[in-house]
Amino acid sequence: MGPLRFAAAQCQREANGAPLGDGPPLLVTTSVIMHSATAWALLGAGAPPPGSLELAMCVGSFGLRMFGITAGYHRYFAHGSYRTSRPFQFALAVLGASAWQKGPLWWASHHAEHHLHSDSAGDPHSPVCGSLLWAHMGWFWACMEYDAHPAAFQAGRGRVARFRQYPELVALDRFHHGPGIALGALAYAADGLPGLLWGFIVPTVGVWHATFAVNSACHRWGSRRFATTDNSRNNVWVALAAFGEGNHNNHHAFPWSARHGLTWREPDLSYAILRALELLGVVWDLRLPTQEQLERAAARRSLTVNKQAAGPPDKL
Ligand SMILES: [Zn+2]
Ligand SMILES: [Zn+2]
Repeated sequence: MGPLRFAAAQCQREANGAPLGDGPPLLVTTSVIMHSATAWALLGAGAPPPGSLELAMCVGSFGLRMFGITAGYHRYFAHGSYRTSRPFQFALAVLGASAWQKGPLWWASHHAEHHLHSDSAGDPHSPVCGSLLWAHMGWFWACMEYDAHPAAFQAGRGRVARFRQYPELVALDRFHHGPGIALGALAYAADGLPGLLWGFIVPTVGVWHATFAVNSACHRWGSRRFATTDNSRNNVWVALAAFGEGNHNNHHAFPWSARHGLTWREPDLSYAILRALELLGVVWDLRLPTQEQLERAAARRSLTVNKQAAGPPDKL
């Protein structure tokens, strides 16, 4: 089933036959423009080449916003993996919003639905139930269809309801394009077209694909350390690009953990930064799995492996 037909079927089911909402032309158009500009920049077809300033802007813009998405939108807003002050909570939300993946409460509630229905019918982005393209970005392009039917994400909304007491977060969720537009304008003001291209557009596309690969690649390719009920995988390449999020099987085993890379061989830059911020007193109460919890989860895995090795029981 193609991504758009899957979206339509999903929406119709969720809405009990209600008519579909408006299509997603704005998101798709923005995406096409951003990808075309990125291809133009990377292929060097007459685009301004990056100097040291542009490269520094590119790395800084990618790194800050990847941290905003992984440590902010994901580990803090969606999973409550640690605690922080109200100003830093807002800073995380602004950083995440500047990556143009919609608002913090929208993002976190959709992600909660992913964990509630991983790789089954209610999962917004599963490469098991839909296509790889759908799981990667198709669901995001079609998200206006979803959003026309609030009932579809009631459970996810409930999970992040506690943040609705903060008017600054509710406002940011509504005007989520603001931080991205401000960052683009700042990059243009600092360095003209090369600044806009390398300081905003290219790293935005980079953060998109690194983030979306967690939903697509990490439910398709990689190793499974824990016997979770979904098809989540640990993928070291995605873990490197997405600051630790590619340790996705670990994450599905311990969704509330602030740490996704559980050994030194599982890279997790966002956790390293969170640890540094903890030492500085900016964040606190980082939640981590205990040794006992790790051993219990590992034992469940060996039980499953042994059952598989033994094969199906004989029919008598
Ligand atoms: Zn997942
Ligand atoms: Zn998660």
